[in-house]
This record gives sequence, C-alpha cells and structure tokens, in this order.
Amino acid sequence: MFDAVVVGAGPGGSAAARLLAQAGWKIALVERSEFPRRKVCGEFISATSLPALQACGIGEEFLAAAGPPVSRIGLYAGDTQLASPREGLWGRALGREHLDTLLRDAAVRAGVQLFQPADVVGLRREGGASVCALQDGRELKARNIIAACGSWNARGIFAVPDGCDVPSDLFAFKAHFTSGALPPGLMPLLAFPGGYGGMVQSDAARLSLSCCIRRDALALARQRHGGKAAEAVLAHIRATTAGVDKALGGAALEGNFLSTGPIHPGIRSRHADGVFFVGNSVGEAHPIIAEGISMAIQAGALLSRLLIAGREGEYAGAWHRRFATRIHAASLFAHLAMRSDTRAVCRVLIALFPGLLDWGARLSGKT
Ligand SMILES: Cc1cc2nc3c(=O)[nH]c(=O)nc-3n(C[C@H](O)[C@H](O)[C@H](O)COP(=O)(O)OP(=O)(O)OC[C@H]3O[C@@H](n4cnc5c(N)ncnc54)[C@H](O)[C@@H]3O)c2cc1C
Repeated sequence: MFDAVVVGAGPGGSAAARLLAQAGWKIALVERSEFPRRKVCGEFISATSLPALQACGIGEEFLAAAGPPVSRIGLYAGDTQLASPREGLWGRALGREHLDTLLRDAAVRAGVQLFQPADVVGLRREGGASVCALQDGRELKARNIIAACGSWNARGIFAVPDGCDVPSDLFAFKAHFTSGALPPGLMPLLAFPGGYGGMVQSDAARLSLSCCIRRDALALARQRHGGKAAEAVLAHIRATTAGVDKALGGAALEGNFLSTGPIHPGIRSRHADGVFFVGNSVGEAHPIIAEGISMAIQAGALLSRLLIAGREGEYAGAWHRRFATRIHAASLFAHLAMRSDTRAVCRVLIALFPGLLDWGARLSGKT
C-alpha cells in the first residue's frame, strides 16, 4: 500500500512526488510516456519558481542547463515591436525534454517508485483506500491519489464534477529554431490575428516559439498559406507579425513542429472523490502568461506541504487564493490579444506606457 499514487510525471506530479517522498511518504509515480519527450510548451520558467526548483533538488542543474536570463518582456504585434523599459530578472527557459527528466530523476533519487511507461486507465475505491488500475493489468493501492496528468487527461478516469470543463477551440503549436535572432534578454509576447504566442531564447542557443490559435483563424491560415497546419500557422504569424519575421529571418527549424489541442484553459475541481488535482488538472492558465509550469510545481509543493501537515482540507481554498488571479489575468490578456479591436488599442496603450508590460508580468505571477 502506497501513501500516495501520483498520476503524471510532468512538473506538478514530479514536484509533489519528490516532496512527499522526502517527508518519508511511500510514493508511486506513474507516467505513460517515455522520457525524454518534447512537449508543446514555451519552456519559460519564472524566477519565482527557483526556490521550488531548489526544493525539488534541481536548482543547480536547471541554472546550468537553461537558456540565458530573460530580463525584458516585449510585445510583437503587427509592425509593433516593444520592450519593457526596465530590466528585471524574470526567469529562464529550458526544454521540457530536459526539465521533466530532471524533475522525475530527482523524485526517484528521493525514493519515489517510478512506473514508466505505464498508463493509469481506471480508479476505484476499496475500503478507505483507492486502487489505480494500470493498462498492463497491475494495480496500485494507495491512501491518497494525486492527479497530475495535465489538462484533458483527467477526464474519463477521475470523477471530475460537471461544469468543471470549459469548451475551447484553441489549438497549440510549438517549434525550436537555431540561428534565430531575438534581442538579448527579450521575451516578446506575440499577438496576431486569431491567436497569441511567445518567443524565448531557450537552452543550447535554441529559440523556442509556441502559440495558440483559434480554430477559425487556423482554417483561414491553411486556406491562405497551404501546407500542413503548423507550417500555415508559422506563415500566418510571420506574415502578420514583423518582429517574428525578423527574428526568424536567418533561422532554421530544429526537429519537427509539435501540436496539440484543443487546450482547455480554466479552473476545475481541486479535490473530488478522494483525488487531489495539481497542475493543469486543476487549473490551466492561457499560455499567454507562460506560467503553467511554475504554477504546476508550486501547486505540487503546496499540496505536499498540506498533506504532510495533515491539513489537506485547506488545499482547495489555498489553491484558489494562490492561483485563481493568475488564471483570470491570463484569460483577460488572451482575449485582448486575439481580438483585432482590442489588440489595436493595446498596441497604442503599450506604446504610450511600455511599463504596462512589467505590470502585466507582475499580475501574471512573475515576481
Ligand atoms: C502553447 C503553449 C505554451 C506554453 N508555454 C509555457 C511557458 O512558456 N511557461 C510555462 O510555465 N508554461 C507554459 N505552458 C503551460 C505548461 O506547458 C503546462 O501548464 C504544464 O505542462 C502543466 O504541467 P502539469 O504537470 O500539470 O502537466 P503536464 O506537463 O501536462 O504533465 C502531465 C503528465 O501526465 C502524463 N499522463 C497523462 N495521463 C496519464 C495517465 N492516465 N497515466 C499516466 N500518465 C499520464 C502525461 O504523459 C504527462 O507527462 C504552455 C502551454 C502551451 C499549450
């Protein structure tokens, strides 16, 4: 019998697993995919998460492997190319194939028992415990279940109450480029017709570009530019966003594009039927604020602390106080970026008051 089975070895799951194991809990960590694996993600991690990364045992490794510090937030929209006036230390970026592997390995070093690749396909209550069924027929019994399996994977296995899911028509894409040219330290937010995204200098001198685009804008981009969906999206962004076109002028695509969707930003249940949810399983911010990894790690740490202290009943309220504002702010920014009228107003306002970029970064949790 385990003290907890953690489903999903993304940032939220590995963080929770490691911190509980360090407190002497017997933990199983179940991950369906093989690592290292790439993931649709901008890869930026806020400086506010460094203490949590240190607590997870990977602070030094993260700093050694990550891309250069991001010191300015910017905006690329149409012909507009703006940067926040003041320098700060906002964070750094590291490919998910590296970050998730580091976090998982740190959890295993702390004594976590890893099941990978292994897919949780069912859950039932038995007496006072829960039993997780794996696809290969094995069963894992535990006092607690922590669902850290990303945004849409929780449905179908765990009893998520009705009304916790928000319909969405946003598709996400991501690519790495070599020899791209962003101004040093700049992480521009991209706002283009029907979507938004971000670019950042990641590890090994790679430029990471990730974005979300509405279904209708994607269809239009495919009509206009042809080719595969991801190629049409990139052509659409380059044709409408001068800063991106310039940054990628001499760049070469590394590997292939990744895509996923539709993504489901919104707040879901924190605790249901003996299962605690962390990371995207509980609340997913529009990626425009690039805070999902940080929030997943921080939520994993919050839940672990409360479970260890026997105060898990406080989790739902504590989660809401800590993360709900960021999720609502992200939703506001996403909708401002995607609509042509509000995008135009924001461009003018930010050109007049570039400090708004710092304000937005703070509101989204980057301090
Ligand atoms: C376009 C885009 C750009 C983004 N950019 C950023 C950014 O720059 N910075 C940032 O902080 N965030 C960003 N995010 C958000 C970030 O990727 C997520 O918020 C983060 O990955 C959530 O972590 P998690 O641990 O909750 O879940 P995940 O990282 O999704 O991990 C869940 C894990 O669970 C496993 N799993 C699922 N179901 C099962 C099952 N049944 N059995 C076993 N294993 C299972 C999966 O294989 C996966 O490894 C971006 C997202 C998108 C879409």
